Amino acid sequence: MLILLFPIIIGVVAYLAWKNRAVRGCRWRADSRRDKGSLRMYHCISCGAEAFTATQGPPANCKKGLGGKGL
Ligand SMILES: [Zn+2]
Repeated sequence: MLILLFPIIIGVVAYLAWKNRAVRGCRWRADSRRDKGSLRMYHCISCGAEAFTATQGPPANCKKGLGGKGL
């Protein structure tokens, strides 16, 4: 039974790794003209997402799935 589970676990891990890499495919560019106070504006040139961060560096993951279509 364990030998049947093994390929499934490998597949799940591979899927998660692929998904993670897809999310991290964002290429953030700082856009200082659109900063809001202490929040820095970042624009993803890969998928077009926009995000604000209060921390150092660009957002950790893509905001592509957030907002936009809902409103
Ligand atoms: Zn993106």
